[in-house]
Amino acid sequence: MQSAEPLLQVTGLKVHFPIHAGLLGRQAGTVKAVDGVDFQVHAGETLGLVGESGCGKSTTGLAVLRMHALTDGQVRFNGEDISSPDRASLKRLRRTMQMIYQDPFGSLNPRMRVLDIVGEPLRVHRLTRGRAAYRKRVMELLERVGLKAEMAERYPHEFSGGQRQRIGIARALAADPKLLICDEPVSALDVSIQAQVINLLEDLQKELGLTYLFIAHDLAVVRHLCQRIVVMYLGRIVEVADRESLYRNPSHPYTRALLAAIPIADPDPEVQARFDPSLHGEVPSPINPPPGCPFHPRCPHAAPVCQQQRPRTMELAPGHTVACHLHDPEQAEAMARPQ
Ligand code: SF4
Repeated sequence: MQSAEPLLQVTGLKVHFPIHAGLLGRQAGTVKAVDGVDFQVHAGETLGLVGESGCGKSTTGLAVLRMHALTDGQVRFNGEDISSPDRASLKRLRRTMQMIYQDPFGSLNPRMRVLDIVGEPLRVHRLTRGRAAYRKRVMELLERVGLKAEMAERYPHEFSGGQRQRIGIARALAADPKLLICDEPVSALDVSIQAQVINLLEDLQKELGLTYLFIAHDLAVVRHLCQRIVVMYLGRIVEVADRESLYRNPSHPYTRALLAAIPIADPDPEVQARFDPSLHGEVPSPINPPPGCPFHPRCPHAAPVCQQQRPRTMELAPGHTVACHLHDPEQAEAMARPQ
């Protein structure tokens, strides 16, 4: 059962970065990394945020954590507007929202023992009293993520990639967060290890009632874990649907191309027929995005109108929205015209 008010509500989020050039450092342009994004995550849910590298997913995650300033828009967390928090609110927020990073090698300080890495949030937020309670809590956290308590004395280089990611998860859990932003947490791991870490995240969610915003660059990883999926392209949302609808009835050409890239052991030909050919080329620069629909240079269905008009977001079914002229009744004639 989902609660009425989402745990996280993001409305009209924009994160733009100025580009400075020349000796005087004048602003020469703007990177529109996130350019008007709306979504919500309910308590206990896992929402997938999917798109290729450069689509603005990680920037969105960092903006939610308030590690990037918002250019515009609003972020509400647990009923509170956190768009411009003061220092005290920010510290409280950092406790309730934690991040699991992509790179289990780079995200752990190699000079710190696991005891101090996992215990860092306990110290910052003063969550334990005395050395014995601190050690006990770190050891509990290690065991909770499937590591041995005595590993607390070791250093990161003594662990495998999967174990390091478990250490990162233990650190994220230390402050008893409500929301975990998982930024490609398995993409740097071997396939066999990926499943173990995904299973661990699922178990932790059930045990601790956690909510996840799960960022991934392909639709294979989120398929198992996420109840709803948001597909982003060049700083904007192009499709939102629950898992079943997205995989059975992918409606944006970009979503269909992402699905075509997933190797499937036992493909359903009827479903496969709805996928578009795999993607060619790169995501264009967010400094100078294509006019109209930003996907048009790569879209096999692009019509002249796609180069001129940005598509509206249409609701195809409750909870399933798509931003593409192919689904807009007002553009039916324009999309039917020969190119
Ligand atoms: Fe393709 Fe046009 Fe739809 Fe954009 S609006 S995804 S270019 S068909």
